Amino acid sequence: MTYVTRFAPSPTGPLHLGHAFSALTAFDRARARGGTMLLRIEDIDAERSRPEWEALIYDDLAWLGLDWPKPVMRQSDRLLAYRAALDRLVAMGLCFPCRCSRGDIRAALSAPQEGAPVHGPDGLVYPGTCRGRPMSDAASTDVIRLNISAAVRRLERQRRPGLSPGPPSALSFTETGPLHGGRHCLSGVIAANGIGDVILARRDIGTSYHLSVVIDDAAQGITEVVRGADLFDATHIHVLLQDLLGLPRPVYHHHALIRDDAGKRLAKRDDARSIRRYREDGLSPAEVRRMVGLGGPDPS
Ligand code: GLU
Repeated sequence: MTYVTRFAPSPTGPLHLGHAFSALTAFDRARARGGTMLLRIEDIDAERSRPEWEALIYDDLAWLGLDWPKPVMRQSDRLLAYRAALDRLVAMGLCFPCRCSRGDIRAALSAPQEGAPVHGPDGLVYPGTCRGRPMSDAASTDVIRLNISAAVRRLERQRRPGLSPGPPSALSFTETGPLHGGRHCLSGVIAANGIGDVILARRDIGTSYHLSVVIDDAAQGITEVVRGADLFDATHIHVLLQDLLGLPRPVYHHHALIRDDAGKRLAKRDDARSIRRYREDGLSPAEVRRMVGLGGPDPS
C-alpha cells in the first residue's frame, strides 16, 4: 500500500517550531517510504480562521522545502460530508442533544457523589446530564454528543465471535511513535470514565474536530497519521468513530512536542518562535530543521 500522510494545520495563527517539526516529520516519513504528504487546512472554526494565516502556512511550508499535491483539502468545503456522517450516527441511536454550559458541567461534577472530576481529551469528562434527551428534542442552540458507552457496547457486541462478523481490530490501533509505540485498545471503562460523551457537532459549525478529522483522513486515503503527542488520547475517539462509520484505520505516529526553554508547549500566540520570524531573521530552513532536532534534509 502506498504510504500517505498529512499535515493538518488550523489557520488560526502563525505556524511555530512545533508545527515545523510536525510537518517535517510527516514529510520525511513520506519521502523515506516513497509516499506522499498531503496538506489539509482545518478551518472549521470560522471565527478564528483567517485567509492571511492560510496564505502564511503555504509560504512557511514552501520555505521549509516541503511540497504537496494540489488542490489542498479545506474543511470549510466539506461541511456536507460531516453532516452526512453525523446523520448516520444519529440514525444509529448513539447521539443526544446537550444544552449544558461549561459552568453547568463544572457544577454537576462538583456534587459530592461525583468524586474528583476527571480530565479527558476534551477537558472535563462530561457527567451525562443530558444523556436521556432524545434527538427529537434537539434545539438549534444544543450541541450533539456521542453516547460513548452505547457506542462502545455496540462495537463490542459486533466483535464477540459467533454474533456478527465485526472486525477483530475493532477499537484498537497501532502506534508507531516514540512515546507510546505498540497496540492500544479502548475499553468500555476507559471510554466512560476517561473520555466521556464527546461533542460531535458544535452549535456554530455543525461538526467538531473529532468528526471532521476522521471523515477527512478516510477521504484522503491516509495510511499513517503523523501529529503531536497532545492528540494521542483523542485517537481513541477517532478509532471509535472509524469503526462506527466503517472507515479504514490508519496507523498513528504521535511525535514528542517541541517545548520552549521553560519546558512549556509552544502555542500559536508564541510569535517569537513563529517560522515567519525565523525567516525574517535570516535563518535558513536547515537551521530550523536542526533547531527541532531533525538532521539534514535527506533522512532516507
Ligand atoms: N488541526 C489540528 C491542529 O492544528 C491538528 C489535527 C490533527 O493532526 O489531527 O492542531
